[in-house]
Amino acid sequence: MSYPCLRVRGMTQTATEDQETAPATAVRRPALSPSRASDFKQCPLLYRFRAVDRLPETPTKAQLRGTLVHSVLERLFALPQSERLPERAKELLEPAWSELSADRTEWTELFAEDDQSQVADWLTSAGKLLDSYFALEDPRRLEPEACELHVETELDSGVLLRGYVDRLDVAPTGEIRVVDYKTGTAPREIGEAKAMFQMKFYAVVLWRLRGIVPRQLKLMYLTDGQSLAYTPDEPELRRFERTLEAIWQAILKAGKTGDFRPNPGKLCDWCAHQSRCPSFGGTPPEYPGWPEPDPGEETPLDRAD
Ligand code: SF4
Repeated sequence: MSYPCLRVRGMTQTATEDQETAPATAVRRPALSPSRASDFKQCPLLYRFRAVDRLPETPTKAQLRGTLVHSVLERLFALPQSERLPERAKELLEPAWSELSADRTEWTELFAEDDQSQVADWLTSAGKLLDSYFALEDPRRLEPEACELHVETELDSGVLLRGYVDRLDVAPTGEIRVVDYKTGTAPREIGEAKAMFQMKFYAVVLWRLRGIVPRQLKLMYLTDGQSLAYTPDEPELRRFERTLEAIWQAILKAGKTGDFRPNPGKLCDWCAHQSRCPSFGGTPPEYPGWPEPDPGEETPLDRAD
């Protein structure tokens, strides 16, 4: 019996290493991830706070719920196809949360210790996102090639791209579909351009790794039970590659001088760093200098937006 998703959990696909044997913990050199590239585009100062200063951010319960639901969907696809049912998925919530939160007291502290109903209500709200998922597709009819696939490739310009794909479906014809689950609470219209940027990022990485332009980029919005599919083409991905190179050059330039400027906008409402942002009367900490080895690393919370 094969459990495809857990078999590849944490697996790395790079341009130079074999898919089955590549270690997930290679020495890291600075790379661009979709989350950090989006941060820089949205607000260079936000990028600095997250990638250079690496200031901690207390997650919200909604972010944690996203992380949990992503983990449950990964575990669901590790089950035999016939067992991928809504009730079985909900049974996975509690053990997945225990495992994810085991070494993270800052996560468990979001819930009152003496009120177990808080966790129970929160798990119920995560179950509703799973219901939305099952309304969008039947996982018994799917056999993904990978879940939570770590991908990395270097462009001809030397820019290193790195990220995690929620799910990769490959048809018998070889056609690739990139799937991303969205669980965030930000209004969909605000997050949509950001989500499409992330999907094109993965499309470029997979195109460069496999020589095939993904047939479909699919976003599944579990909060409102809708999905969005997009078909990229090669000229578009070439142009997007140039956009990524330009973003990386702008990051390096700002990194040398420490000149990361705030760019206030609608998404400031979701920023954890308003208190130290000049646009909100705050003062950033002294610039610590360009970090080594890698300012672009994503976190599980990034992947759960
Ligand atoms: S509050 Fe807004 S402008 Fe300030 S760092 Fe955050 S995202 Fe940027």
